[in-house]
Amino acid sequence: MSESLIGRGVSNGGRLFREWFAELERGAANGGQAAYVFVMGSLGELLRTFDFHLVFPEINSLQTAVRHVAHEYLNEAEDYGYSPDICGYVKADIAVQLRKGQHPMGHVPPPALAVLTNACNTYIKWAEIWERMYQVPLFVLDVPGTRTAGGQTWPGHDDFARDRAYVVQQIRELITLCERVTGRRFDVDRLRERLAHANAMGQDFKRVLDLNRRTPAPFNAVTDGTIFLGVANGFRGTPEGAAYFRDLVEEMTFKVEHGMGTIREEKYRLVFVGVPCYPIFRRFNEMFVEWGGAFVSSTYLWFASGGTDLAWQYDLAQPLESLAEGTLVSVRHAMDAMFYQDRIIAGMIEPYAIDGVVYHSIKSCRTVSTGLADSRRALAGLSDVPSLFIESDMMDRRVVSEAQLKNRIDAFFEGLATRRARGD
Ligand code: SF4
Repeated sequence: MSESLIGRGVSNGGRLFREWFAELERGAANGGQAAYVFVMGSLGELLRTFDFHLVFPEINSLQTAVRHVAHEYLNEAEDYGYSPDICGYVKADIAVQLRKGQHPMGHVPPPALAVLTNACNTYIKWAEIWERMYQVPLFVLDVPGTRTAGGQTWPGHDDFARDRAYVVQQIRELITLCERVTGRRFDVDRLRERLAHANAMGQDFKRVLDLNRRTPAPFNAVTDGTIFLGVANGFRGTPEGAAYFRDLVEEMTFKVEHGMGTIREEKYRLVFVGVPCYPIFRRFNEMFVEWGGAFVSSTYLWFASGGTDLAWQYDLAQPLESLAEGTLVSVRHAMDAMFYQDRIIAGMIEPYAIDGVVYHSIKSCRTVSTGLADSRRALAGLSDVPSLFIESDMMDRRVVSEAQLKNRIDAFFEGLATRRARGD
């Protein structure tokens, strides 16, 4: 039993993504339409009811880094005229578009429509490039964010009702646009089906995250977590996505029940803050594992899942209103996971038995990295948990210095060891 269970989530995640790319190719060959979307507020549940093939350019871009070819794509975009300073995901995607969709995992079809939220301002400038390249419509969903720290409102509050009405109206406009682009009528029953799958997935996604409270932690929130995130985004609202997370709960529960951790000897439990270092993805993690450091949680699992970690449950009796409400709450939570993460992390120290927090600031994502040092200072005011601040990139190997990272990481663990020896 254990042989077929352990590692199933990782291998099935890889298989699903290979099938996903194959499906994109088939769809494009058969005249299907692609919608380009982003991880923070993809609205995949709705777009799938119109049979769009979803393309996540952020995921495509990170795949070039994990496969060690990102530099080729970045250089091509920079030669074309894009600045070395801008988001590396944008540049890798530009090179994919300049290569007419050629990508290490297959062929990415051009967009028929792009849907984005205001969760990252780069989304808007990025989508404008597709608009110019392909003359396709863009739809920007403006999701009201948190106005003041801790000032979120919830169902039952007047402010929340106004924000929800604002999002409902925008979703109605998106439906009209989808009808125009596809020539199909909106089918509310198909939306109900998609929402039901998303409900099941969200619940199980959260169950999996919660299982990492256990010691030893059954999965690595950075390496395994990135695979889980890919499925949570790419297969949201699908039966395959719901089944994947149902199986993942089974696998992780088994590991917990049998005391099986993600690393052989878990000595330090860590939270990762930011976006992973994809150019040296495995090596980056090893530098922590060598000291017995296990990433038990990650802010990436919150914001890059578009807030799926909240496990918001749609009300199938009011699908449109509930989609708006869920989108509002989840995207707002994703933004909070970047801008008010200190509070969320402080609340995790005890339940997750956290020994240290690792801040990873990256050159090419200002949305996530700006304010990270201030956020670290804010956490220091809320908790005495030690933290490490390191800098590299999620795409650009030119600014990743393994030796420098290792020095900082080693010094951090030496500090943790001394602290533990003193019994602090
Ligand atoms: S700036 Fe950061 S959050 Fe925005 S698209 Fe780039 S990687 Fe994503």
